[in-house]
Amino acid sequence: MKLDTIAIHAGNSTDAYSKAVIQPITLSTTFERSDDGSYPGGFTYTRASNPNRQALENVLTQLEGGEDACAFSSGNAAGAALFQSLEPGSHVIAPGDMYHGLKALIAEVFSNTLQISFVDFTNIEAIKKAIIPYTTKLIWIETPSNPLLKVSDIRAICSVAKETDIIVCCDNTFASPVFQRPLELGADLVMYSTTKYFGGHSDVLGGGLITKESNALWEKIRNIQTLSGSVPAPFDCYMTVRGIKTLPHRMRGHAFNAQRIAEYLHLHSKVEHVFYPGLPSHAGYEIARSQMSAFGGMLSFTLKDGETAARKVANSLKLFTQATSLGGVESLIEHRASVEGPQTTTPFSLLRVSVGLEFIDDLIEDLEQALNFL
Ligand SMILES: *Cc1c(COP(=O)(O)O)cnc(C)c1O
Repeated sequence: MKLDTIAIHAGNSTDAYSKAVIQPITLSTTFERSDDGSYPGGFTYTRASNPNRQALENVLTQLEGGEDACAFSSGNAAGAALFQSLEPGSHVIAPGDMYHGLKALIAEVFSNTLQISFVDFTNIEAIKKAIIPYTTKLIWIETPSNPLLKVSDIRAICSVAKETDIIVCCDNTFASPVFQRPLELGADLVMYSTTKYFGGHSDVLGGGLITKESNALWEKIRNIQTLSGSVPAPFDCYMTVRGIKTLPHRMRGHAFNAQRIAEYLHLHSKVEHVFYPGLPSHAGYEIARSQMSAFGGMLSFTLKDGETAARKVANSLKLFTQATSLGGVESLIEHRASVEGPQTTTPFSLLRVSVGLEFIDDLIEDLEQALNFL
């Protein structure tokens, strides 16, 4: 079955009782037990599992071609569950430009239990050099990365990891399973902030981990999910399942619009550089072409006249809302360095764009009038 079909059907079932075509939201926290002590519905208590969460986990598993999935209350909670599953003292290798919220989580909250090396993931030799024998347990990939859209070679990194039994998890939030399939490229786990493209409408927080194999590590992750309770509410699961139904269609629209905006900005005299893996001028273009079926809806660009120009453009746009986050149907723009705070390594002349699904000519017209302000 193709992704478009899975997205619509794998998270939904007609209700056995009412025959409602769309699965109802089950708010009950507890489920009836039979006289013999069994639970005929297969559910006991909502922290352990719930029909809506099960539906969400099923569609996540099927979309990724994995064996199982855990849904979490946020993307960061998904990352935290994996970090918690590692033995104390384990060493983790992650990209220097890892999503800043997860970077802060691992560097601040897990600083007493995990060792962490941040390296440049476009440099395979640097990753190899960072490996500490018997101690490095996890390599964390994020590609394309945030906000510079750096592309790292998933196949090459996974083959390095396989030599020494290191687990690879890929944060696939930007690409989605529609454009990039980390499990097929060699990763063990895939992580998502479903807050972004899966939900797709900027109105529900969530995260997910999908595993290639239901092994001992996975059992530990499942335990952390259900025992620590960082689970999404039934309503949030319902909203995410609803969003996922149109994910493949939306992703094609995001990529179509982003490619055109990237090409437009690339030729603009006021623009210094465009970071979009679908441009042949992008440093990771060839690798992106080898591991992605399209290049996604995220791009960044810098202005020749620096931070003042960047802020002026952001302030002059009418259709693009200035806000953080990404993956919704509406276009967003943000001055990324000021969002990331004092530790940022992002250029101050950079604007990050989450390209939405508005009509492309309207978006380009808006960019044109804002750049003309300079
Ligand atoms: C947003 C995001 C996260 C964190 O997800 P939350 O749902 O905000 O907790 C992780 N990785 C990437 C790439 C993201 O964009």
